Amino acid sequence: MAEALHTPIAYLKGIGPEKAALLKKELNIETFWDLLNHFPFRYIDRSKISTCRYIPETEGYIQLEGFIDTIQELGAGRAKRLQCRFSDDTGSIQLIWFQGWRWIKPNLIPGKKFRIFGRPKLNGAFWSMPHPEISPATEGTEVGFQPIYSSTEKLSAKGFHSRGLEKLIRSLIQKIDLSQIPDLLPAELRQKHRLFPISDALTLLHVPKTERDFVEAKRRLVFEELFLMQMEMLLRKGLRKRSEQGYLFTKTGKNLADLYHQKLPFDLTEAQKRVVREIHQDMKSGEPMNRLLQGDVGSGKTLVALITMLLAQGNGFQAALLAPTEILANQHFETISSLLKELPVRAALLTGSVKRSARTPLLADLKEGTIDFLIGTHALLEDEVKFSKLGLVVIDEQHRFGVAQRAKMRQKSELSPHVLVMTATPIPRTLAMTFYGDLDVSIIDELPPGRKPIQTIHRFESHRPQLYQFMREQIGLGRQIYIVYPLIEESETLDFKSLEDGYLNITEAFPIPEYQVSMVHGKMRPEDKDREMQRFIEGTTHIMVATTVIEVGVNVPNASVMIIESAQRFGLSQLHQLRGRVGRGAEKSYCVLMTDYELSKESKKRMDTMVETNDGFKISEVDLKLRGPGDLMGTQQSGALNLKIADLSKDQEMVVQAREEAIAIYSEDPRLGHHSRSQLRNRMIQVFKNKPHWDKIG
Ligand code: ADP
Ligand code: MG
Repeated sequence: MAEALHTPIAYLKGIGPEKAALLKKELNIETFWDLLNHFPFRYIDRSKISTCRYIPETEGYIQLEGFIDTIQELGAGRAKRLQCRFSDDTGSIQLIWFQGWRWIKPNLIPGKKFRIFGRPKLNGAFWSMPHPEISPATEGTEVGFQPIYSSTEKLSAKGFHSRGLEKLIRSLIQKIDLSQIPDLLPAELRQKHRLFPISDALTLLHVPKTERDFVEAKRRLVFEELFLMQMEMLLRKGLRKRSEQGYLFTKTGKNLADLYHQKLPFDLTEAQKRVVREIHQDMKSGEPMNRLLQGDVGSGKTLVALITMLLAQGNGFQAALLAPTEILANQHFETISSLLKELPVRAALLTGSVKRSARTPLLADLKEGTIDFLIGTHALLEDEVKFSKLGLVVIDEQHRFGVAQRAKMRQKSELSPHVLVMTATPIPRTLAMTFYGDLDVSIIDELPPGRKPIQTIHRFESHRPQLYQFMREQIGLGRQIYIVYPLIEESETLDFKSLEDGYLNITEAFPIPEYQVSMVHGKMRPEDKDREMQRFIEGTTHIMVATTVIEVGVNVPNASVMIIESAQRFGLSQLHQLRGRVGRGAEKSYCVLMTDYELSKESKKRMDTMVETNDGFKISEVDLKLRGPGDLMGTQQSGALNLKIADLSKDQEMVVQAREEAIAIYSEDPRLGHHSRSQLRNRMIQVFKNKPHWDKIG
């Protein structure tokens, strides 16, 4: 970066050490460059003049033109204020100053036409405007758009409210030569996408004349931000692949062939076949696999996991399968054991509740190498768990395992084992590109044949008698039912049904001995939870009353009705996950969303989306628009991205373009050696400076 840009802002006119320290503390602005990168978050059209009679309620800042009628000094001491009536042809409003009015007052000349600018407030039926900016109307100095900057209370008190920052940034732009700023976007890319050079973009973002100026300036900066992020991820992926050697799995192995050709009662779906091919390709490449497998609930990921594990086994390696909960680990173990039946492959289960007496021999066998597959929970991460030859780690449900846990598993193997991460929470393609851009992504976008789509219905409290009738019919047909509640304890302020209340109501409406009801929630002891769950899995109970603990992965094919109480309290992806608990058997399945009559617009949209579609990817797209990427991915992950100007829910198309361009450049010139890319290369070297192997970039 050009040297001048590193200059501390204390060198700007009007900024001494004290103000500089405050800017650093409040907004982390230290240098010229930081100040230039304090972007406006919106603009006000200064060519537009409103009238006192029709003040737009939603616009925030507005301009008015008119005359000062009366001037009053009110109150005393610290409460003293200056109050004016300001009128135009259509009506009038109050202008109020609590501070600085001694300077203002002499300028307020009745009969003179003024232009005022500020944020109007409605007090009862009357509009007022505190601390407006005021200037003679004839001057017409303000043209174009005014940028609005975020500031803080402390900075505002020192004159650095939005307007103060604006002046400061303007003076900086006049002072320095922006053309020195290295343009990280290669010229060919700028031409192709018609992007401003960086100097124009920064100038016009801060000092736009037309709307097009700031729209285009922003587009350029968003593109740059997304492009750099993609470039970084590609380089990181490349570095990892080149610096880590992976196990070579070239054989298919007899057991996999046997399973595939003889044991499997069905054929793989096309999507499963494609994904298996992609995985196999990775495993033959000599580099460690790092693949994210996305597939909607019920799309058959477990089978893909098993096939992958058999590939490892067929090449003389062990495999580990990590699940987020004990219930899920149990289920995976059972599913996999039954599919492995009669095959000479040994799977073992390790969870927190495996007793020491059973654990010791299990760990010995694992170390010995006589256990092929170890399936379990976080218990697998413990140091005492040692493998003889770990070649593959499968992680189910991405969201609950972090990078640290993945690293922990990696340590258990000589070379980096292959890693397959499976997630049943589909995320939009563009989010996958940004959050998992350094993983390869496979998608199962097809359900096994013969699935009957789940019918989703939205109902209100007044329909409860019909709902109970419907439940009785379904139980009469031999089906089982889930009822899910959002909360465990009654809350005085919130009027929705608690789980325990719900349980009482249900046991009243569905009395023993004709009906059996199970209940599970997060506050139960694990043994009790498992027992209750087991009773439902075995079909002993007809109804399972639960909180979201049953959200992930639980498989009871005979359960065909999912009732979600106070459904408006759940997010879309959670609703979709819950719905995925049914529709797993041959019977037609239903999901009933129970809500209040009065729903917010957003809740209504969620219910409608659920009723309209069963497609997890479509649902995740809507979710992204409703909630934004932070909520979708968890703040921890989105914080790590640190996007300054791009908005992943609005700039999706640009994510795709930026990624395509990054891939194009990377595959043609992985070292970024071409002279047009030298600035980009310098930046990337900087980015990788503190990371191992940064010198191997490209
Ligand atoms: P996921 O983990 O993706 O939610 P599962 O692996 O639990 O889905 O699979 C759901 C059900 O579909 C299981 O009962 C499984 O046996 C079955 N299944 C998987 N693949 C196929 C297929 N190709 N054809 C028919 N049924 C399949
Ligand atoms: Mg699953």
